Formats: sequence, C-alpha cells, structure tokens
Amino acid sequence: MTAVENANAGEQYEQYTPSFAEYWDDLVGWDDRLERDGPFYGRLLNAHGAKDVADVACGTGVNAVALALGGFKVTATDGSENMLEKARENAKARGATFNKSCVADWLTLDDTLGKEQYDAIVCLGNSFTHLFDHEQRRDALHAMFRTLRPGGMLIIDHRNYDTMLDEGYSSKHAYNYCGDGVDVGPAQLHRGLAQFHYTFKDGSTFQLNMYPLRQNYVTHLLEDAGFVNVERYGDMQRPFILNQVDFIQQVAFRP
Ligand code: SAM
Repeated sequence: MTAVENANAGEQYEQYTPSFAEYWDDLVGWDDRLERDGPFYGRLLNAHGAKDVADVACGTGVNAVALALGGFKVTATDGSENMLEKARENAKARGATFNKSCVADWLTLDDTLGKEQYDAIVCLGNSFTHLFDHEQRRDALHAMFRTLRPGGMLIIDHRNYDTMLDEGYSSKHAYNYCGDGVDVGPAQLHRGLAQFHYTFKDGSTFQLNMYPLRQNYVTHLLEDAGFVNVERYGDMQRPFILNQVDFIQQVAFRP
C-alpha cells in the first residue's frame, strides 16, 4: 500500500493510539501554547457573545480546558476515545469542568450533539487536516454548520500548508506545538500528503498522515457549506504575511 492509500484507509483518528495519546501533551507544551493562543480564542469568542462552545477536536484538552476555566460552557468531543480520556484526566487535574464530553466524529456531529446547539465550534491545533476526502470535508463542515445556532461562529486552525508546499517546511515552533525536546518534521510532503514524524526525548517515534490544506481551499469549503464572512488570521494576527506564519485561523459564521 502506498502512503497515500494508507492515509485514506480507516478513520484518521485511529492514528492516535493509547501510547501516542500519552505523549501528546509533551508535544503540545500546554503553558507556552496557552500563553499565546488562549487569550486570542477567549477574546474572539467573547467578542461574539459566545457562551456554549464545542471543541470538536479537543485532543487531550488544551483549549477545551482553558476555555472551561475561562468561564465558557464547554462541550469537549473528539473522534478518538484515547485522546478524550486524556482530556478528561487533564480537566480534572486542572480543576476544569466540561458541560459535556463524548466521542463524536465530525461527519455525524449534529446527530451526536444535536442541531442548533452551540454559539461557537472550535476545531484547533491543525485537526481538520485529518480528512483525506473532499466529500468528507464538505460533509463535516455541513454537520458543523447544522450543530451551530444561527449566527454561530466556527473557528478552524490549520497549518500554513501553502508556504510549506511552495517554499518548503520551516517552523518557529511558537504556536500550537510548543513542547521542548520534541523533534518534528515532514517525512513526505507533496500536494496529496503531509506525513510528519515526531521523535520524543526518550527516543519514541510516531507519525501522522495529514492532508495539506491550502488556505483558499478551506475558505472555499466553508463558503460552500453555507458559512459567511470568513476572516483569516495568521499566527493570531491580522493582517499577516503568508510566508511568515506557521498557522492560519479561519473564522466563519452561520448566517
Ligand atoms: N486540538 C487538539 C490539540 O490542539 O492538541 C488535538 C489536535 S490533533 C492534531 C487532531 C485531533 O483531531 C485528534 O485528537 C483526532 O483524534 C481528532 N480527529 C481526527 N479526525 C477526526 C474526526 N473525523 N472526527 C473527530 N475528531 C477527529
């Protein structure tokens, strides 16, 4: 099986094995990450008057926990039971309470969580990259759209794959994945696949297969799903120079 065929086989959250879930927090580097992105997301959500927020790719909980501690009513979901279990442990350890937490696949989000439930949905830390099929990306965004209340806000944060594909990989390691002593880099990088390898301090290695999302394509998908007024930030700033940022945040609204 080629890498691309392999990337298309099975659900991508199955890559988050119990042992990778154990290592994930070393990669995230919670304190540095929350210092940089916590205030940004809190401000955006507050400015929009959001109270009920679903983190639909909560992973081990970094943003869901910070938002719950920041006073939002947070639903934490993930396709991976392994990651969600760690998120629950992390919430408990940090004194945060989720309003609800459950396993949920984006493709059936509104069936799992209910229609028109949330003021905001966040899908952060380069998660949306895990869908390899155009139709599945469309279906996932449609399901997120239906899960939001009219007027609701969706925030998707993804790597700056445009610059990676056009100019090669480099990273400031300042956003999202800030952990010390973790060696991260692409083993394969082309239009159809970004395969990243992660080597941790103790020598353990993992890999993730991701689809390199171009920013215009994501905006187009959002508009195609019915979202309006899509705004982009680069490393949480606006305006930004594309080849100087590691991550793009796309903010869109359900009319
Ligand atoms: N947001 C977290 C963070 O920043 O640390 C986790 C990011 S991790 C790169 C991507 C997450 O998306 C994983 O926890 C994975 O299980 C989840 N995921 C991937 N495909 C999914 C799907 N189809 N439905 C729900 N969750 C999915």
